[in-house]
Amino acid sequence: MYASPFAYHRASSVADAQRLLAANPGAKILAGGHSLLPTMKLRLAAPAAIVDIGRIAELKGIEIVDDGLRIGAMTTHAEVAASPLLADACPVVSDAAARIGDPAVRNRGTIGGSVAHADPGADLPTVLAAVGARIEMAGPSGTRTVDAAQFFQGMMTTALDENEIVTAVSVPSLGAGRGSAYAKFPHPASRYAVIGAAAVVDVADGACTRAIIVVGGITGMPTRLPSVEAALVGHPLTDQAIVSACGKAAGDLSGDLMGDIFASAEYRRAVAGVYVARAVAAAAKRAS
Ligand code: FAD
Repeated sequence: MYASPFAYHRASSVADAQRLLAANPGAKILAGGHSLLPTMKLRLAAPAAIVDIGRIAELKGIEIVDDGLRIGAMTTHAEVAASPLLADACPVVSDAAARIGDPAVRNRGTIGGSVAHADPGADLPTVLAAVGARIEMAGPSGTRTVDAAQFFQGMMTTALDENEIVTAVSVPSLGAGRGSAYAKFPHPASRYAVIGAAAVVDVADGACTRAIIVVGGITGMPTRLPSVEAALVGHPLTDQAIVSACGKAAGDLSGDLMGDIFASAEYRRAVAGVYVARAVAAAAKRAS
């Protein structure tokens, strides 16, 4: 199918993008296009104009900042997956980026596009919520930064205001004694997460002292599992302890859960603990 006719504008800077968005009410931002263009071709969206931010140099690249790394919004999933800086500082983000879609998707799709789109089956929102990432935005009223946990507000719903642009995502350097990992049950056709599980665990003197567990693909947005976190803390992360704690995952997943003809809500809820346990076990290895 073809998209409805639209005007195309290429922005040369963030300020230029803001000017173009203001001049074209209802315009959509185009990043990698891997979510926006299919939506337009299916006529689920028909913006009269798009503002292409793909050539804005200031939105690209990964740099070291005081307490971690700052990833420009137009950095592709492939660049995130291949970054030695990220693999060292915050490996759960590399894990997730490496498992997105296929090489074509990873070479075009961007971290800014993924967080702005906030697809419930996306991988990066889950890990960004788990590591305490911060989302930087620029809009008509200036710039601001929001914690990932507050940024993702529901299915395809974020804290972005009208005409705000995600400019970067900052992730902390996790440091010694803290391990992180991501485990995923990919949909066999799209590769989106049917279940995605991110774990960040601190280990000291052989026992878990802190655990952050977040799942995606199940409730429509990244969701923490407090019962699993509480059951992990205070114990050595043996296989038995991990399986026992992660058995509490289903109890933390209630309400309106996602389901489809491939995986029902009941199935996702029942199987989530298996992927959470895999993520915790891998994170525990990295913490030691
Ligand atoms: P675009 O498609 O250009 O934009 C998406 C939306 O975000 C649009 O509404 C756009 O206006 C807005 N937007 C984009 N950038 C910004 C910005 N900087 N500020 C504000 N708004 C912005 N994702 C996964 O996580 N896991 C998968 O396994 C996976 N598999 C996929 C398989 C296929 C076949 C396809 C086509 C996509 C898949 N994706 C998957 C999605 C992919 O990662 C997309 O690239 C991503 O969700 C959107 O990024 P993009 O750069 O392509 O954004």
